[in-house]
Amino acid sequence: MNGEKSPETATDAASVTSTESNSSERTKTPRANSKSTAARFAGETRVGLVRRARRMNRTLALAFPDAHCELDFRTPLELAVATILSAQCTDVRVNQTTPALFARYPDAKAYAEADRTELEEYIRPTGFFRNKANSLIGLGQALLDRHDGVLPHTMSELVKLPGIGRKTANVILGNAFDVPGITVDTHFSRLVQRWKWTDEQDPVKIEHAVGELIERKEWTMLSHRVIFHGRRVCHSRKPACGACLLAKDCPSFGIGPTDPVSAAALVKGPEAEHLLELVGR
Ligand code: SF4
Repeated sequence: MNGEKSPETATDAASVTSTESNSSERTKTPRANSKSTAARFAGETRVGLVRRARRMNRTLALAFPDAHCELDFRTPLELAVATILSAQCTDVRVNQTTPALFARYPDAKAYAEADRTELEEYIRPTGFFRNKANSLIGLGQALLDRHDGVLPHTMSELVKLPGIGRKTANVILGNAFDVPGITVDTHFSRLVQRWKWTDEQDPVKIEHAVGELIERKEWTMLSHRVIFHGRRVCHSRKPACGACLLAKDCPSFGIGPTDPVSAAALVKGPEAEHLLELVGR
């Protein structure tokens, strides 16, 4: 974690856009200050935390109106397969791998009857390909044995399938079946802890703690927005605090560069220009 704190430059931190009264209205609020920001959260009540968390979610909706699952898929099974392949691998790499895979293995039966060596070659670029091949073959067999070859759409059934844990199940529920789900990955865990939404470390406990703060209907989109923000702005090692739309509401403001120019250079992704525009750069 970057310890680049600068009391002198903290007052020059990002100005933020207020979303409290009207989400379509761009209203600049006073710039965040790391000292006053930290003090403001010291005695935060439960009601205050809920309000802040929901306000941050609305701000993220402004920042990332097109947030979505970054894995390519057309069917629930394809999403399940892509999510299994995404373990320890980038979504970009998975998306490069899956078109040929999905063409060769169109349904659960194809995975159940796959030649292991051939399947491993298809998914080798995603890493850990032997374990992942086991999961895909096991998934195909379990779907044939227990679900007529069709992916179920309840958490309790999904987590009993090979290769599918709670995180993957929430991705599938939220994105293939429109059942609200909170996806706790490494970005989500890091950010909600920085925001002091919860002190929990365990992903399931984080999921439940955040679920109590944010309206259920928002869970899936919240997950996308938080993950987008983690990938583009609030990086693990050097968060772009000085160019962050959430600065005013973030108790960890100042753990990354607060100088606007240095911070702006850290913002990544196709939305960078839009994000910098929102903070007035
Ligand atoms: S970049 Fe992260 S740590 Fe910094 S103000 Fe934004 S949300 Fe907080």
